[in-house]
Amino acid sequence: MKKISKIPWAESIWFFDIDDTLIDTAGTTLSVSEGIMRVFQAKHTVEETLRVRDNFNDIFNLMMIGYRVKNKEDWQQVPGEKEAFEKLLQDIGKSQNRVKERYGTSKKWSREVFIKFAADKTGIQVTPELVHEAADAYWVTLTEQTMVYPQAFDLIQVIKRHNRPIYLLTSSDGRLNMDDEGQFDYDPRYSEALKRQRIELLRERGVNFNALSIGDPEDKPHLDFFEKAIKIAERDLGKPIVFKNAIMVGDSFGGDL
Ligand SMILES: [Mg+2]
Repeated sequence: MKKISKIPWAESIWFFDIDDTLIDTAGTTLSVSEGIMRVFQAKHTVEETLRVRDNFNDIFNLMMIGYRVKNKEDWQQVPGEKEAFEKLLQDIGKSQNRVKERYGTSKKWSREVFIKFAADKTGIQVTPELVHEAADAYWVTLTEQTMVYPQAFDLIQVIKRHNRPIYLLTSSDGRLNMDDEGQFDYDPRYSEALKRQRIELLRERGVNFNALSIGDPEDKPHLDFFEKAIKIAERDLGKPIVFKNAIMVGDSFGGDL
């Protein structure tokens, strides 16, 4: 086992992932896919709408579990195991040719893409407007229902009692726009602005952070993502960070730790 060194409170600098670390995004997602349903119901049958919702939730779950797998055996809990996850990642990549060309990688967590895939799997055609509207409904409902984990809330209060800084590092929500061919485009400023709105609301729920860094366009686990966050933190602190005193809290080994 690696030796754990003690960090004095007075020197500590805290970095947190947000989704599924501070707030229950995954748990909330399954209930807020109702927002997607409202939009589909206006144009499709109840059966189709329910299938879109179930397919959306399956896709989301596969992504969640896929990213959290730590050991080979863990794949047995994943429906379709590693191949299903890799196929999904491939399909996500194929839906974002221009994004990959321009930014070197695709946006993995775009709900717009999940909604399109869920409709494809249901066998129904969707317009760019419908995908856009459904994704908006999803994020609005999710933001309204966001719950801060009680233990995370307590930890934040303790850190703030010690008067230490908290920086939030969060992935892009991958707010993309679909075209008529089912290809997606990405405007980092648009995507980042929407995520910032969503995260600023956490202040009202007692998450008292110093600064926020969002993965648009550079995202986890790329080094640039972390360098961007460090720059933002150092600007806020007014001095360089001593890394041995920095703590990163996250829920994904691959993405955060
Ligand atoms: Mg997370």
